[in-house]
Amino acid sequence: MDPIWINTLSVIQKKLDTHQFNHWFKPIVCESVTDEAIVLRVPDRFFQDWLEDNYLELLQSELQQCAESPLEVRFTCESLDSSKSNLVQNVRSQRQDDSIPLDRRYNFDRYVVGPSNQFAHAACMAVTEAPGRNYNPLFIYGGVGLGKTHLMQAIGNELRRRNPSTRIRYISSETYINELITSIRTERMDEFRSRYRRNCDILLIDDIQFIAGKDRTQIEFFHTFNSLYGDHKQIVITSDRFPQEIQGLEERLKSRFQWGLIADIQPPELETRVAILNRKAAYDGVHLPEDVAMFLAQHVKNNVRELEGMLIRLTAHCRISGCPIDMDVARHVLKDILESPATRVSIQQVQKLVASHYNVSVADLKGGRRHRAIAQPRMIAMYLIRQHAGSSYPEIGRRFGNRDHSTVISAVKKIEKQLTTNNDIRKTVLELQRSLVG
Ligand code: ADP
Ligand code: MG
Repeated sequence: MDPIWINTLSVIQKKLDTHQFNHWFKPIVCESVTDEAIVLRVPDRFFQDWLEDNYLELLQSELQQCAESPLEVRFTCESLDSSKSNLVQNVRSQRQDDSIPLDRRYNFDRYVVGPSNQFAHAACMAVTEAPGRNYNPLFIYGGVGLGKTHLMQAIGNELRRRNPSTRIRYISSETYINELITSIRTERMDEFRSRYRRNCDILLIDDIQFIAGKDRTQIEFFHTFNSLYGDHKQIVITSDRFPQEIQGLEERLKSRFQWGLIADIQPPELETRVAILNRKAAYDGVHLPEDVAMFLAQHVKNNVRELEGMLIRLTAHCRISGCPIDMDVARHVLKDILESPATRVSIQQVQKLVASHYNVSVADLKGGRRHRAIAQPRMIAMYLIRQHAGSSYPEIGRRFGNRDHSTVISAVKKIEKQLTTNNDIRKTVLELQRSLVG
């Protein structure tokens, strides 16, 4: 093997997961290296496309480092005699006609797993193992920019990789609504129905919360759901909130969304945020110093999209100015964020505040006693956490002695009701809110 290729491989191996490396780099055979180009033999066209879409930048930048000059990367496929190549072409064009495109970068390899998302991630992986069987529907919910669309499309990409002829429909509920309206207007409902029922093996429907209040869409979707479900076709749904919480959504849909598995995604922990930055930098062929990664991760907490945005800004800034990425540039780029006041409230903070206001202990709030003197403050604490810390119901449940999410939901509802009927409670809650957010 050529030393340039050996060196490049060993650098790439350090930057990727073992799984990624074994899957996408081990099978590559280096055919030849000249001054301008390297020829890499890969198993098939799909493999080549995947490498080009996901790893080309990384390959190019590492090759350039090792060869000390840019090398063009050329791929060749192992067994592409002409008949096979036609076959591959056919499968590919069929696939393209039939499906709404998925973003190839939204794959499992690029998704960093940590405590905040490991359950959702595992659920998605399980779905790719046996679509339509165990977890149907799979309902993923969580805040903005936490990776719901990424995971959902990763299911699609993985299923497509395993079986290119699977008919996968990926659609946001907004587009679904628009398509439905157009189909009604142009009298093409039959086509619309067959697209999402008969001619669909996997339905990925993103941001379902937007169908709330849209009666006609809900009726149509209800029948689509039943038809797919009845045929054991996998349905994956994402939302920014728990099904029960989507106001204006029909009860029968809410209940169906809970038939399968519900998985939430929480904002990532610090370590996960650092890992996300490192992985993105590696894919983009950017050298990101450790202290800078830590610094970014410490300041951008609740939204992975923003975190990635920071890295993009930082990289662009350094490319334009020609200086390397370091702490000075990072501070400069993050200036706006660093100067805005921290507004986030923590679960612990609320528990402490409410406990001291009512003269009970935090342990009491988390404990099992149901006496009103404790149950009422407990419900208020849950309500305030929901409002101000933005935590999910399951998360709040876990932080109150592992209660079920449904207990939290009814507590929050109860307080919401009391706020409109009980003046004392309203005054207390307002006072607590004021001391929380200043
Ligand atoms: P959502 O649909 O929940 O609003 P997205 O799936 O669009 O969020 O994710 C926003 C961005 O953050 C995407 O570019 C996605 O690739 C990235 N992202 C989110 N979570 C992760 C993760 N755990 N690992 C890697 N990238 C992530
Ligand atoms: Mg999304």
